[in-house]
Amino acid sequence: MSKLRFNALKETVNRKPVEIKEEKKRSEIFGENVFNENTMRNFLTKEAFEGVMSAIDHGTKIDRKIADQVASSMKAWAMSKGATHYTHWFQPLTGGTAEKHDAFFEPIGGGMAMEKFGGGQLVQQEPDASSFPNGGIRNTFEARGYTAWDPTSPAFIFGTTLCIPTVFVAYTGEALDYKTPLLRALHAVDDAATAVCKYFDKNVKKVTSSLGWEQEYFLVDSALAASRPDIILTGRTLLGHSPAKGQQLDDHYFGSIPNRALNFMRDLEHECMLLGIPVKTRHNEVAPNQFELAPIYEESNLAVDHNSLLMDVMGKVASRHNFKVLLHEKPFAGINGSGKHNNWSLATDTGVNLLSPGKTPMSNLQFLTFFVNTIKAVYDNEELLRAAIASASNDHRLGANEAPPAIISVFIGDQLTKVLKELEGVTKGKLSPQEKTDLKLNVVGKIPDVLLDNTDRNRTSPFAFTGNKFEFRAVGSMANCANPMTVLNTIVAKQLKDFKIEVDKLVDGKGLKKDEAVFNVLREYIKASKNVLFEGNGYSEEWEKEAKKRGLSNNKTTPEAIKAKISKKSIALFEEMNVMNKVEVMARHEIELEEYTKRLQIESRVIGDIARNHVIPTAIMYQNTLIKNVTGLKEIFGANFKKIAAEQMDLIEKISGHIATINSKVELMIEERKKANKLHGQKAADAYCNNVKPFFEEIRYHCDKLELMIDDEQWPLTKYRELLFIR
Ligand code: ADP
Ligand code: MG
Repeated sequence: MSKLRFNALKETVNRKPVEIKEEKKRSEIFGENVFNENTMRNFLTKEAFEGVMSAIDHGTKIDRKIADQVASSMKAWAMSKGATHYTHWFQPLTGGTAEKHDAFFEPIGGGMAMEKFGGGQLVQQEPDASSFPNGGIRNTFEARGYTAWDPTSPAFIFGTTLCIPTVFVAYTGEALDYKTPLLRALHAVDDAATAVCKYFDKNVKKVTSSLGWEQEYFLVDSALAASRPDIILTGRTLLGHSPAKGQQLDDHYFGSIPNRALNFMRDLEHECMLLGIPVKTRHNEVAPNQFELAPIYEESNLAVDHNSLLMDVMGKVASRHNFKVLLHEKPFAGINGSGKHNNWSLATDTGVNLLSPGKTPMSNLQFLTFFVNTIKAVYDNEELLRAAIASASNDHRLGANEAPPAIISVFIGDQLTKVLKELEGVTKGKLSPQEKTDLKLNVVGKIPDVLLDNTDRNRTSPFAFTGNKFEFRAVGSMANCANPMTVLNTIVAKQLKDFKIEVDKLVDGKGLKKDEAVFNVLREYIKASKNVLFEGNGYSEEWEKEAKKRGLSNNKTTPEAIKAKISKKSIALFEEMNVMNKVEVMARHEIELEEYTKRLQIESRVIGDIARNHVIPTAIMYQNTLIKNVTGLKEIFGANFKKIAAEQMDLIEKISGHIATINSKVELMIEERKKANKLHGQKAADAYCNNVKPFFEEIRYHCDKLELMIDDEQWPLTKYRELLFIR
């Protein structure tokens, strides 16, 4: 056994849970380290407080005088909590978060110093960001980037640093981050949805998009993870034979949480409480060592920030418990991968969830309006939605016969399927009084009752209606939610905008009553978007065939899928909704291609190295033991040895076969890599996807066979059975 594997195993056997004491009630510490509304009320002057609140609620600008006041209060508050530094916290296009800490401390001459933090520093910073990906934006415009305060997401303290959520933009105005387009999309959906709401309630002034994410992840002992170069360098295992026991007994799902893991979770939840992340549920997932954590939903921008922050905090807390968190979508072959369900809805400032049926026929008509418009938006933009969740790591889940497929479809349940069928049959144009009454009482009026029974959830659907929200389940566990949420809110915004135009046309042009017009347009939408509705098993082969007939896309790989981002239609959509201009869209596409290529390049190098430096030398070592054994047997048994040593000789031959295949496959893979490295953009990504990646499975297959043949004592890599069960 390699020293590394041996020592790692020894270390884990002796692990003790790190005990966590929760001294205060969670409600008492919730948001303790957040400069939230409550804190601001205490620390800000009335004028400054109102300035910030108006910026949050109405998007008004904060003038310099107010910014100075806010900064000085923020500093006082942060220092009272032990903060020494501040940072503009942002989400560059790497998908992670970025920060550069500056001390409050500043020398003021004469050998003296003081703590300084003014409005200028709060509002804008210029990080040296030349090494963040920008997809050519900054080169094209020779512009520098700056970060600017986003008052809609409150500042918080992590460790001893005051973190100020910011957007990251070029001086020419192009967004260099994930947050800026998201904020624009949220603005677009607010405008469009508020206008539609006015059909039903004139008092609605604002519509907010909400997001409740559910984060799946794996925990692996940190010593064991460190013994695997593939986990350290790629976040997943590139080889390893399935353990005798995996998830077949289903004994992990919702089972009791192992002690060490539970202590980690409690510690993590404590940190989340301080940071104002409202985590609520935790449980085991299907696979061994797999867990899930979910907060109560929040306004989408805040929820996205909280998820990014959580992913960061998870890693830090895990190391206190000698764990490594694996956020990769498929860290282990043969057992379930991880996702991040994005529960999404829209709510009015009058307190109505627009995707929750109400108590009156009118409020239900409003529900149906938003429900059907969302379905139509998904249907019209299914390929773009698929593109929004594409990544090298998520390709292992989507379309790989595991939840959910690469085909985007919508599940709505039996009862709502029936409701839509009835609406589809509504007469064109004006309705008779009888038909109106019928619709109101028997179709629209009955929705709240039927929904109560709508519990049969279809777990294979990538986009499912679950009673009062849609659940976008195909998002990757490692992904920044901003990207899919930007697309979802943009397509719904566009759809609602079109809907309003069509309804107004019927009202103003054809003299229809408002509700008649709404029924008429919805009927057409239901007819037009029926093809995206699917209630069956999304993993089945029949569905692939059926979806093809229906004209739904099935883009299984990232280079294929993300083409939809730069189609004429998508660019026009983003431009029309003021979410991104063409340069911004093209830049993101370029970055995603590059990221894909780089990830595969790294994986290819790592698998080549492991195969050659770990697996083959071990195989030869073991083969030598066998050869010695056979030579010995020959000495003892003479001519008879062939019968007696038959098994060993067979093994020697098989090992040689695997070694030869691994070697030649690695050679061929390197050749393909060299060719791919000469290419750029789409071509490079395609080459990695089609010519390099296929070798991974082939090389792995032979390495995994060797793992089963070779003396366990000699095998250098920590095995699945050792990685996967927390002691
Ligand atoms: P599960 O899908 O695991 O059965 P639940 O249905 O209880 O779980 O809820 C999952 C998530 O949905 C939670 O994170 C919750 O906050 C979120 N959620 C509930 N209502 C909304 C809403 N109106 N908008 C967005 N997310 C919501
Ligand atoms: Mg869920």
